[in-house]
Amino acid sequence: MKHKDFSPESLAISGGHDPGSANNSIKPPIYQTSTFKFNTAEEGKAFFEKAKGDAPLEERNASLIYTRLNHPNAITAEFRLAQLDGAEDAAFFESGMAAISTGILTFCHAGDLILMSSPLYGGTDTFIKKHAVQFGIEWAEFEPGASAEDIRQLIKAHPKAGRLKMIYLETPANPTLSLTDIEMIKDLRDELAPEAIIAVDNTYMGPVFQKPLAHGADLNLYSATKYIGGHSDIIAGAASGSEKVIREVKKKRAILGNTASPFTSWLLSRSMETIGLRMEKQASNAQQLAEFLNGHSKVRATHYLGLLDSSDPLYPLFKKQNTSGGAMIAFEVDGGQQEAFRFLNALNLAHLAISLGSTETLVSHPFTMSSSNMDEADRLKNGITPALIRVSVGIENLQDLIKDFDQALNSI
Ligand code: PLP
Repeated sequence: MKHKDFSPESLAISGGHDPGSANNSIKPPIYQTSTFKFNTAEEGKAFFEKAKGDAPLEERNASLIYTRLNHPNAITAEFRLAQLDGAEDAAFFESGMAAISTGILTFCHAGDLILMSSPLYGGTDTFIKKHAVQFGIEWAEFEPGASAEDIRQLIKAHPKAGRLKMIYLETPANPTLSLTDIEMIKDLRDELAPEAIIAVDNTYMGPVFQKPLAHGADLNLYSATKYIGGHSDIIAGAASGSEKVIREVKKKRAILGNTASPFTSWLLSRSMETIGLRMEKQASNAQQLAEFLNGHSKVRATHYLGLLDSSDPLYPLFKKQNTSGGAMIAFEVDGGQQEAFRFLNALNLAHLAISLGSTETLVSHPFTMSSSNMDEADRLKNGITPALIRVSVGIENLQDLIKDFDQALNSI
């Protein structure tokens, strides 16, 4: 297959695997091996030199040494994600938190500063505020809706402004769906801290509905447990970006030892074949479920990007960065935690579980679950209230979903 002739969607289906290298099998085998034979000692020496040094990606991929460093299933999966993201290279990890923590530790060291959007996924918030600080990395955050001027002043006034090494964004943010303008952040970075890496957690939109690298991000991060894996059967993480940026991330990954295993990588390669189909159906179900919730008497507020209309101040940014409203909804029931719990306990089709991005619909209560490790004041400030329900919409029959949500809301 000549890569340059085909679109990313096609390459995500059969790219990154050469049947001729594996008994002509259409699908890649799982290379369940920890190590790779060198044909000669000289070859082993050369492979090590390439792995340690800055050899081009193709040469590094042709120099297999040891599965913690690289393996054929990782190469297939990484090729496919790079196509979908419009990236030069990608790296897979054993969890989203592994990708995020490795990405941060690659570019931030003792005495450096991370500037971040808020809210962030609870695990990331905890990693930066409670763990990265143990390595001497400092942080500052800006509020949702902060203007370029607000952020400029925040950076300029910070005593560590000269050590700003990463601007970390989550857009849309989990669970509030607040948006940050990546191009605006890139302009600020270019003006105030040209060496800082812009990292974007793109878990919520996945590679199908948002391409952060095209808007000026350097490092695209994912919980691949979510839409990339897509079936609630893998824990995985990913990073994508330029060959230069990902080379550094892969060096750190090799030492931290959190490279995705052959089986995880194989499942991810399989999943990326259907990601477009799954996400389109999830988003179309979500649009219609959100419209239903928005008109329901037991629902106080519905947050779904596909409900923004052209009069909303966020609409131009949404249209610039996202090609769909996605499949994540957050809504507040009429009441508080008690009513929210009654709704959750009454669902029959949707499952009460954290995580998102799978074929089945999942509902959860961020205030007491995925965001519970954030300070209560921060949760409330960000709209993560006791009445808030998060929905990850799956690919079930839409009428069944609406029926299920309706009966559960009516039981409040
Ligand atoms: N980022 C976001 C937005 C998430 O929702 C999650 C998990 O829910 C993560 C990162 C962490 O990913 P993982 O659970 O795969 O480590």
